[in-house]
Amino acid sequence: MTELIDTRTADPKRFIAGSADDWEVIIGLEVHAQVSSNAKLFSGASTRFGAEPNSNVSLVDAAMPGMLPVINEECVAQAIRTGLGLNAAINLRSVFDRKNYFYPDLPQGYQISQFKDPIVGEGTITISVGPNKKGEYEDVEIGVERLHLEQDAGKSMHDQHPTMSFVDLNRTGVALMEIVSKPDIRSSDEAKAYVTKLRSILRYLGTCDGNMSEGSMRADVNVSVRRPGEGFGTRCEIKNMNSIRFIGQAIEYEARRQIAILEDGGSIDQETRLYDPVKGETRSMRSKEDAHDYRYFPDPDLLPLEFSQAYVDGLKSDLPELPDAKKARFVSEMGLSPYDASVLVAEKANADYFEKVADGRDGKVAANWVINNLLGKLKEDDTEISDSPISPQQIGCLVDLIKEGTISGQIAKDVFEIVWEEGGDPAQIVENRGMKQVTDTGAIEAAVDEIIAANPEQVEKAKERPQLAGWFVGQVMKSTGGKANPQAVQALVKQKLGV
Ligand code: ADP
Ligand code: MG
Repeated sequence: MTELIDTRTADPKRFIAGSADDWEVIIGLEVHAQVSSNAKLFSGASTRFGAEPNSNVSLVDAAMPGMLPVINEECVAQAIRTGLGLNAAINLRSVFDRKNYFYPDLPQGYQISQFKDPIVGEGTITISVGPNKKGEYEDVEIGVERLHLEQDAGKSMHDQHPTMSFVDLNRTGVALMEIVSKPDIRSSDEAKAYVTKLRSILRYLGTCDGNMSEGSMRADVNVSVRRPGEGFGTRCEIKNMNSIRFIGQAIEYEARRQIAILEDGGSIDQETRLYDPVKGETRSMRSKEDAHDYRYFPDPDLLPLEFSQAYVDGLKSDLPELPDAKKARFVSEMGLSPYDASVLVAEKANADYFEKVADGRDGKVAANWVINNLLGKLKEDDTEISDSPISPQQIGCLVDLIKEGTISGQIAKDVFEIVWEEGGDPAQIVENRGMKQVTDTGAIEAAVDEIIAANPEQVEKAKERPQLAGWFVGQVMKSTGGKANPQAVQALVKQKLGV
């Protein structure tokens, strides 16, 4: 199969043009993110998801004659917050344009969008790429071209009646942010990392709930291929993807489709395609329209959008700590590895939980417990962290019990399971159920003696190969129900075996 190379992790020697059959994939994403706001972009109608069809529709949304749009200031503030979160230039003056096209679920006959002068200009999103051959991850900056505000369209429903189609205008006029990346993405993994990171930033900011299955966030994926060193090839756009996994699959399929055509001496038609997750293929939907087909012009019903730098600064000062800053703090102040830090900051709820566990404790130990025990168990149990049956205080208590030497790490895992199932105070559980670690050397010594006496052959072997001492430690731990202090066992075993 033709190899798609990730230019960031591959060996640079392979980039001599024409030297191999390798191809490079070029990807740019247009993400539509629904603005978190109670009301629509230009009307006071509700944005609630899942309402009765056509129950959240004002006269403005239905485009009744004589109705005028009125900008919703909260949507503007959300777009500015998002721009700031993407380290982007905020344009103090932007313009709403009409993008003209006909669709049954677009009663105005045009979409109000921003074309030449968007509210947000260039920014960046940092993604983590890897692992490379050495197992390292590298930060890569993906450019953001722009972010603009626009109205969402309604929904046509073709599956409700044998001979009629229905239209639901609840979504009509809901505010969207279209966030357009530069063609900086080089593999399906990077595209998935980009969407994941963008969603995380939007959720931290509270500007979009990022719920892709409900359609609050969806992506148009632009794909082209080239031989390394060549200029950009013709792109195809795969529309309306609402799953990160499918985005990855669609890119892989589409890149290979284009390569097969080019290797056959053909050329790529610029077109809009759809991904069929059942067949795992993209198929042509229509040839790509150009901007001039839409007859964009400034909407005469709306003044240009203008605000002051002081307004922007005010919003900036209220921004929460974002994932990159949190990750840097977890690494520098709490001693976490960059990898553990990025696992924890990916979801704000996980980071918040971790910080409560780590409060006044060793950060690394707390991170270990949250990542390896809690997150694993939540996943296994298909439970959200907000519904976790075990609280940060309870895990903190376990960490303290280990640190004090009251229980071993192994016993702590058993206590974790008990607290998960039954609740309760970990210290009390350890006390009541006699789970305390045995630190009494006399008792441990007796257990060591017993194992040594019962295994003379192993003793002879261990005298020649001291690393076999570990086997005795394991046996003693087993015979004491895991309650013996492992350091004490190890010391005694070595002493008695004379290794
Ligand atoms: P349009 O509305 O025509 O799709 P936009 O400017 O909104 O145009 O979006 C273009 C998207 O396509 C951007 O995300 C950009 O990065 C991406 N893109 C541009 N050229 C290429 C290319 N050769 N290959 C892949 N993606 C590209
Ligand atoms: Mg597009």
